[in-house]
Amino acid sequence: MIDPLIREQFPILELKQGKSPLIYLDNAATSQTPRCVLDAISYYYEQQNANIHRGAHYLSRLATEAYEQARERVASFVGADSSREIIFTSGTTASINLVAEVITSRLSPGDEILVTYDAHHSNIVPWQMLCERSGAILRPIPLREDMTLDMEAYCAMLSPKLRMLAFPAISNATGILHPIKEMIASAKSASPDCLCLLDGAQSTGHVELKLADWGCDFYAFSGHKIYSTTGTGVLWGRESLLAELPPWQGGGEMIKEVRFSGTTYNDLPYKYEAGTPDIEGNIVLARAMDFIDTLGIDKIAAHEHALMTQLCAGLESLPGMHLLGDSSQRGSLVSVLVDGVHHYDLGMLLDQMGVAVRTGHHCCQPLMQMLGVTGTTRYSVAAYNTKAEIDAAIAATARALDMLR
Ligand code: PLP
Repeated sequence: MIDPLIREQFPILELKQGKSPLIYLDNAATSQTPRCVLDAISYYYEQQNANIHRGAHYLSRLATEAYEQARERVASFVGADSSREIIFTSGTTASINLVAEVITSRLSPGDEILVTYDAHHSNIVPWQMLCERSGAILRPIPLREDMTLDMEAYCAMLSPKLRMLAFPAISNATGILHPIKEMIASAKSASPDCLCLLDGAQSTGHVELKLADWGCDFYAFSGHKIYSTTGTGVLWGRESLLAELPPWQGGGEMIKEVRFSGTTYNDLPYKYEAGTPDIEGNIVLARAMDFIDTLGIDKIAAHEHALMTQLCAGLESLPGMHLLGDSSQRGSLVSVLVDGVHHYDLGMLLDQMGVAVRTGHHCCQPLMQMLGVTGTTRYSVAAYNTKAEIDAAIAATARALDMLR
């Protein structure tokens, strides 16, 4: 059980929208920020603020120490072998773009990249751009009607030409948790040269991370979806692989020596961190990870699962309501379609009743096109949501649908 008192750590949850308490069910887009992270932001600017790594002075040493401790914390949070495997980025999008750039020279015309149909645009477009650079071919892996992966079709697509398999651990549009280990094992057995990137934007902070067991080569996620701040994120990569891949952006910090005759590059992880990073953001990300680990990922997962079971049952009982995807494989979000009701109208009415949900294509236009819709209404939960909030959201949805029909 998650103690409902954790809500007291989130000042924003006390906000009212008119007379209604604010019910925040848009956590898959951005989660709210606890007091320990807010305090760490103030502490950084009051006590530690300076540029890192290159300064000889006291504050620079403090900031550098806090920054590198944060990297150690992230490494232990994701279960990395070493903090050299942790690259700070500005989010999932930047992490995926980084990988797509640095593997360019490993691809030749006719090589293949596979992504699932439910991939986020940030896990489609960088691969399309890579295909333009390299002549490789991007192929989407189909889903079944229940939004789970079509394993048979997937296995039939595998060949020695495969160089990259990229997919979300949990889809942000359907909430479906993919069979990660099986997918990666099949890809690697068909093509030993295949690299696997897991988009962890919706799994981090919601389920236990088992990177070694899953067998992925890269794992990407964002700080603002795990109780921290926007503009932060992480790319985890296997050290031996990152060490042999070329650098990405050039600039300060990623170099050992710069001469006009040539430049030598820094060791990991600095090789991939050109320029002044979001120092405060990455330091406080470690505090958000403390918050998650103090609650316990098993407890968070069980709490969110109970909320989702309650939410799905309540929504399913409403007339004309269709939940996307098989609920037995669900993460902490659900997307719905309602007969005769536009997703945006439902979202607007819910907003007027103090319930924040997300409407639209969720940056998954190919999936929406496959479904023949322009968008869905998405409800997503976090550790601080309560059963009472879910009851209120279901009742508000029922009222909104009565008004719209
Ligand atoms: N991948 C998934 C599955 C997402 O849900 C999101 C954001 O919603 C992203 C990638 C992009 O994350 P960011 O905008 O933080 O880079």
